[in-house]
Parts: sequence; C-alpha cells; structure tokens
Amino acid sequence: MNSEDRFDVAIIGGGILGTSIAYFLCSSAAQSSNNILLIEQEEDISLHSSSRNTGKVHAPFLYDPVKKKLFAKAAFLGFNMLKEYCSLKSLPFKQDGVLEVATYDKGIDRLHKYLEWGYSNGLQKNEIQFLEKDEVHDFEPNVKCLGGIYCSKDGSVDYGAVTRELMEDARRFGCKLVTGSKVVSIVRRNRDKYNDDSHISVYTNNGEKFVTKYLINTAGGNAVDIAHGMGVACEYTDLHFRGEYWQAPSEYHNLTKVSIYTVPKYPEYPFLDPHWIVRIDGRQEVGPNAVPVFSPYAYNWSTNIKYLIPKIFESSRTGARKIFLSRQFLLLASSELKSSLSKTAMINRAREFLPQLRPSSFTQRGTAGIRSSLIDSNGKFVEDTLIIKNENALHVLNYNSPGATGALPMAAMIVNELVEDGILLSASTPNSSTINNMKNNKKHIWDIAVVSDQLRGSSSS
Ligand SMILES: Cc1cc2nc3c(=O)[nH]c(=O)nc-3n(C[C@H](O)[C@H](O)[C@H](O)COP(=O)(O)OP(=O)(O)OC[C@H]3O[C@@H](n4cnc5c(N)ncnc54)[C@H](O)[C@@H]3O)c2cc1C
Repeated sequence: MNSEDRFDVAIIGGGILGTSIAYFLCSSAAQSSNNILLIEQEEDISLHSSSRNTGKVHAPFLYDPVKKKLFAKAAFLGFNMLKEYCSLKSLPFKQDGVLEVATYDKGIDRLHKYLEWGYSNGLQKNEIQFLEKDEVHDFEPNVKCLGGIYCSKDGSVDYGAVTRELMEDARRFGCKLVTGSKVVSIVRRNRDKYNDDSHISVYTNNGEKFVTKYLINTAGGNAVDIAHGMGVACEYTDLHFRGEYWQAPSEYHNLTKVSIYTVPKYPEYPFLDPHWIVRIDGRQEVGPNAVPVFSPYAYNWSTNIKYLIPKIFESSRTGARKIFLSRQFLLLASSELKSSLSKTAMINRAREFLPQLRPSSFTQRGTAGIRSSLIDSNGKFVEDTLIIKNENALHVLNYNSPGATGALPMAAMIVNELVEDGILLSASTPNSSTINNMKNNKKHIWDIAVVSDQLRGSSSS
C-alpha cells in the first residue's frame, strides 16, 4: 500500500472493537467514497485481550445500570447481535447459562442487587432467577454456597474467531488493513496541500506515514498512552492486571453443568475472584485472577520487569499513586500476586465454592490476558467505558469486560455518531437490513441508527 494514500477514517487497533468499527464503517460506507484503514501493531489481528479472555457472552445483571450504563446496555444488546452474527458465519455460539453464587452472608444482598440490575438492564423474569442454597444444590450438587442466581441468557463464544471474521468482512467491504506496524506518533495539521480544513498524520515504527481526516483509537491497553500523545485524557492513567487461568484435568469434566461465578468481595476493585469456567469447546478452567503488572503486554515476568521503572515513574505523577497508598489495595494486590506464584493459592480460591478441586491435579496453565483499568485523578477506578471525541479523533478508553460481549453494539453506536456528526462523506445507513443482504456480501445485518438509539437509551429495546 502506498503510505501517502489518504483515508477518511483510520483505526488504531485490530481487537474486537477496532474490527467491529471497521466492519460497520465499511459496510455502511459501501455506497460512498469513504476510505477506511485499520492499523495493527502485531503481525496479525486479535492477538491480545480479544483472544485472551474467558469467552463469555455476559448477561447484563452484573452491571450497575447507572454507573456502568454503556457496558450494561452494550452487554444486553451484544448477546443477540453476537448470536445472529455467529449463526450467519457458522461460528460456535452456545447459550449455556451461568450460575453466580454467594459464599459469604453479604454476598446474598449483592445477589438481590444483581437481580434488580438484571431486570433494569432488560432481562426478563424467566431469564434470571434467585436460587436458595438447597435449590443450588439440586441444580449443581458439587457447588457449595449460601445461594445463587441462575441466568439462562448467558453464553460462550470464541471471540478470537469472531474478531477474525469481522475483519474478513470489513476487508471484503473495502477496508485496508496494515499489520506489523505500530503507531508511534500522531501529528495534527491544519489546512495543507490537500486543501482540506485539517488532517492527521499517523507515523508507524516502520517509517510509514498515513494521512487521515479522522482517527479512531481502539488500541486496548495502549489506548490511554495514545490519547495522552494527542493531549487527550491527561487526567487519567491506567493500571494493568494479568488474568491467569489453570486448565482443569479431565477428571473434573462432569463437575458442573454450567460456569460458576462468585460475588466479588471487593467490587470497587478489579479483583474479581476466579471463576469455574466451562468454555465453548468444553474445556474447563479456573481463573482469571488479577495480578498487577506494568504493561498491557506483560504476559511473562521478563517483559513485566522491563516496564517496571517507566510505570512507577508514570504512576508517581498521576492518580495511581493514591491507589498505591491504599492499604486495602496493597493487601488485595499481594493476595493476587500470591495466587500467581502459587498454584495451590489460586485453586484454593475456587475451592471455596467447589471443594472437590485438588491443586495437585492441575498441571497446565491456560492463556493469560491483561485488563487495563482506567484511574482518575482522585485515584479511583473508572467504572464505565469512556468515549472521548476531540478534534477529529475519537478515543475509546477503559474498554474492559464485558467489552467483547458489547463490541458490536458499541461499534454500531460509534459509527452512527460519525454519520450524525457528518464525519463520513455521504455515508448512508441501510434502510432495510436483512440477513439475506449479508449473505450476498452486501451489508451488515443491523440498522446502526436503531442499535445506537437502544444503546444510548433513547428507545426501548
Ligand atoms: C482475562 C480477561 C478476561 C475477559 N473475559 C471477558 C469475557 O468473558 N467476556 C467479555 O465480554 N469480555 C471479556 N474480557 C474483556 C474483553 O476481552 C475486552 O474488553 C476486549 O477484548 C477489548 O477489545 P479491544 O479491541 O478494545 O482491545 P484488544 O483486543 O486489546 O485490541 C487492541 C489492539 O490494538 C493494538 N495496538 C495497541 N497499540 C497499538 C499501536 N500503537 N499501533 C497499532 N496497534 C496497536 C493491539 O496490538 C491490539 O491488537 C476479558 C478480558 C480479559 C483480559
């Protein structure tokens, strides 16, 4: 590709969010002259969070409809969209349900709160129900707890496969993809030889320069750094948490019917207690924990150490330093670290609700993934995702779980806003969108304006 090519929109990051945006941009722009580019630093797309996760299509009962409004709505809408997309593409999707249990007294109050949130976020009475201790025992005899919630509208999927398929579609609709090129600098220019109002030059580590009218930053764990490089969101910083898994041996394959989650003891922190996961392909795992690390790519300790000094330096100048003064945070972080270093410590956390598990029978780690959580200037974790628009650029920050579940509606909303803001040249959203159109490789299967209204809460879903 000629790097002097000019684009209407360039997207940084080939995870599930960037590829979903490319998919909607290219399919809705198919009748116009919009020219879309996606830049990915790795040799292939979807090598980070979008393939290194638990693979759950999360039901929205876990999300406060006020404090996590976008995540909650996106999870609700994402379920059906993912189901339709997977069915269309013959990708596996299993509506396998989930059991969320309380292992301590206060956890029961939290479960009742989850029920309320579930209904507020759109779940029906027949999709989510409270189970007394005995009822849980009847349903899952091996689970030990004080009570639980069973939600049937929860699923499993392979997000890596979904991401690759979305990119394939986007490319077929005309999206240009550049891989193995890391964006290292971004320069905004006003009026130039192209005779435009302004444009943005994007430079990569390979010496390429791409020129775009509009930039979308969906760089996952790197998104805050990119935003900072453009003078945006400087009041925020991020902390990274490695979620590790242990694969269960075959002796446990009939231990439960569904995935088991527990009510987190400290929901204000990103330290969710490890779950018992039944994956789409039947593999079972314990995880993830949330071990503080110094980079979004610190999958091993040697990479982690490389980023120690820069991260400490950065944290000392930002709200993160307030977190490091919190005794509670330090205690929780050290317990997570312990569960990283000791398999027994990790499996024992799951033994609280599945006492049959024996640490000695676990021999293989699963694939770890890293969450990057945003911290504000007061040292508080930001709860929802943040979409910040600033001078011909849009940044998506704090895009954590249920980010994969909600990627399609979130992307539809973002693209619809670009249409509404007049960013996309003569773009038109499809009037009638049908699965048949999609089969003919013409368009996406949803009306982005409708999805966008539902996500923003301006129409009933
Ligand atoms: C352990 C774990 C478990 C999870 N479980 C679930 C779950 O069960 N269900 C769920 O819905 N969500 C889950 N999530 C969250 C979900 O995986 C993420 O919200 C989602 O994958 C984020 O997608 P993304 O596209 O924003 O980021 P990513 O997938 O990280 O993609 C960002 C991309 O940007 C690229 N990039 C970064 N910097 C640059 C640069 N300078 N130049 C070019 N490219 C760049 C990266 O290489 C990467 O490919 C989980 C996450 C983790 C870590």
